[in-house]
Amino acid sequence: MENKVITVTSPLLPSLDDFMPYLQDIWNRKWLTNNGHYHQELEKALCEYLKVPYISLFTNGTLPLICALQTLRITGEVITTPYSFVATTHALWWNGIKPVFVDIDPNTCNIDPDKIEAAITPKTTAIMPVHVYGKPCDTERIQAIADKYGLKVIYDAAHAFGVEVDGKSILNSGDMSTLSFHATKVYNTIEGGALICHDEKTKKRIDYLKNFGFAGETEIVAPGINGKMDEIRSAYGLLNLKQVDMAIESRRQVAIKYREALSGVEGISFMDDMPGVRHNYSYFPIFVDAERYGMTRDELYFKMKEKNVLGRRYFYPLISEFSTYRGLESARPENLPMAHSIADRVICLPMYHGLDTDAVECILNLIVK
Ligand SMILES: *Cc1c(COP(=O)(O)O)cnc(C)c1O
Repeated sequence: MENKVITVTSPLLPSLDDFMPYLQDIWNRKWLTNNGHYHQELEKALCEYLKVPYISLFTNGTLPLICALQTLRITGEVITTPYSFVATTHALWWNGIKPVFVDIDPNTCNIDPDKIEAAITPKTTAIMPVHVYGKPCDTERIQAIADKYGLKVIYDAAHAFGVEVDGKSILNSGDMSTLSFHATKVYNTIEGGALICHDEKTKKRIDYLKNFGFAGETEIVAPGINGKMDEIRSAYGLLNLKQVDMAIESRRQVAIKYREALSGVEGISFMDDMPGVRHNYSYFPIFVDAERYGMTRDELYFKMKEKNVLGRRYFYPLISEFSTYRGLESARPENLPMAHSIADRVICLPMYHGLDTDAVECILNLIVK
């Protein structure tokens, strides 16, 4: 067992036999991209599955972030979290917007609503929180702040596919939410993503922006970009949607095993399910308290790696530590103590559908002493 590499994730793939007829149909139609048949079908199917009114497909999960900011004409400063994948902040940079980092709540790893107001300046136009690991942000409190100061809210919901609170989709929060369908995510279209909005007018505007700004054969209404998803990946996405519930259930079973085995381990903590939330078990982060565990996070991480168990220090380093951003006033470590503390202690354990009992046991044997 120890010689077999256990990766941190493994993509959900449709069966090739099921995919072939779709490919044949695409070959017959000879319509490969630009809002084709499967693109439309997938948008419909995702609206239904995710319980959202409007969705626009993209070729990855970064372009919807960039286009959301363009659609809402966000400028100046945007309040965001340093505890995310770097694309969240890059999207601001690509729009010429100054990111303002706010510390996180260590219990959820999400932006701490208590710290947002102090970061608002006359230049602030929006808040861009992330539902880290698919754990819902405190959307009500964030919305109350946004309403009070007249700010927009764009959620980076790349981790939050299918997450619901009290039976309602988390993706309807704020002004817009973005998704990533990258191969490593719970639901994937190899590369892909989406932008979710609440009304038809906005959806139309997004569709212009992702297609160079074309509003008609000869009319350009914005300096748009090429963010379109193609027919092959749309068809693949339709097939994967049929098995995503199975994949989430399989992940839940892995989470149960992890929690059972780790709950008594001194110096290792993890996140519990939140009441009323349908989680997607996209990641299983553990947090190492070096003093109590008797080993640092990095020591454990490299010990696992030596035994071919590949965890991931996700998110480490913080976005605020990268050279592009570390010169910002808000990036100073004194401003972000909780984010630093979490980033220094986290390891995401391998987590994917079909991670078998032997593998889970092998992983746990390295952690439980
Ligand atoms: C994966 C991810 C993205 C980027 O999505 P891509 O599809 O890889 O472009 C953005 N934000 C977060 C939080 C992510 O995890």
